[in-house]
Amino acid sequence: MSITEQYKELESKYYMFLVRRQPMVLERGEGARVWDVEGKEYLDFTSGWAVNNVGHANPAIAEAIAEQARTLLQTSNQFYTIPQLKLAEILVENSCLDKIFFCNSGAEANEGAIKLAKKFGKKNKNGAHHFITALNSFHGRTMNMVSATGQPHYQELFEPIPSGFTHVEYNNLQAIKDATTDSTVAVMIEPVQGEGGVNIPSVDYLKGVREWCDQNNMLLIFDEVQTGLGRLGTLFGYQSFGVEPDIITLAKGLGGGVPIGAFMAKNSACAFDPGDHGSTFGGNPLTCAAAHASTKYILENDVVNNAAKMGEYLSEGLRKIQSDNEFITDVRGMGLLWAVEFDSDITPDVIAACNEEGLLMNPMRPNTIRLMPVLTITKEEIDEALERLTSGISKATN
Ligand SMILES: *Cc1c(COP(=O)(O)O)cnc(C)c1O
Repeated sequence: MSITEQYKELESKYYMFLVRRQPMVLERGEGARVWDVEGKEYLDFTSGWAVNNVGHANPAIAEAIAEQARTLLQTSNQFYTIPQLKLAEILVENSCLDKIFFCNSGAEANEGAIKLAKKFGKKNKNGAHHFITALNSFHGRTMNMVSATGQPHYQELFEPIPSGFTHVEYNNLQAIKDATTDSTVAVMIEPVQGEGGVNIPSVDYLKGVREWCDQNNMLLIFDEVQTGLGRLGTLFGYQSFGVEPDIITLAKGLGGGVPIGAFMAKNSACAFDPGDHGSTFGGNPLTCAAAHASTKYILENDVVNNAAKMGEYLSEGLRKIQSDNEFITDVRGMGLLWAVEFDSDITPDVIAACNEEGLLMNPMRPNTIRLMPVLTITKEEIDEALERLTSGISKATN
């Protein structure tokens, strides 16, 4: 039995069966690449699901983690700690938001944002407590976020689900206007929908939502768990559209690979009073030291600009592949978040063939794959990935 088969047996014996994994055991990574236990090398266009923005095994993050591990790991928020404050400063100073709170995941960040908005409704809007979210959104797996997520297949098995969320068509301002009532306190949307299909809205839509929220004393919450920290070619997704939200949530790319989430708010939306919210591990020195190193690396090494430029380059390559293959019906994306759509359900075949060629991608839908490389990727690495993609697609379809 191969080493891989031995690990697969351990998984099926001990781990809850919740995800159909791709058939390799990954052991090590560096930059844009990972290696499995058989020693096979891959270009990683999954990046831990849009997490490893500054590359695998980035030395700046490894150093920060090692140093913090030797210094102080955990204190609780009963005390001031330095990495937390340094991270708060760098994020606030580089965004349009005024205050921040750290937690441990994207779903938890969204939960916090929802609580903050509810408190805002209690204080400033006659107890308004209802949220409008979008169809095809993805906001996480906690029960409230199952309700917030506008995809019925995530909800049906878990009913009854928490109330308080209305789902409307994405990129349709009128749908938000029609769904608004006196008890609507906030609109929560992704500036670009990630898991729901890499759906890019029009600038007018997001500007219109901003105006509508202003006119109705409602908060605009951007779930930037996937788009934050450079993914779209701007440090935050809202900057790609020139629209300032009242609250944003962050997680995936924030820690450079360690689990950390955050929500940030404008002062006008900071409705919490002491005791309203909290977290044992949130803002812990270790995760904050890693996230600070990662954010600093992004800012000091022009990573955001690289994501924008390499995104352009990748999109040209993908469109070239599209023009050579008429069964590719759509190529869409922004920065380094891209989707390739086929006219039939060939995702499993394409993924398997590309794995063989040494390219990892995300099987987003039966007919759509998602590409999200590390943001430090080079032109040469994209060329190599496009070659592997071309030959994988050709093998899968012949
Ligand atoms: C991944 C994701 C979440 C959930 O994040 P977790 O860390 O898995 O809880 C929420 N919103 C968006 C937009 C995401 O992409």
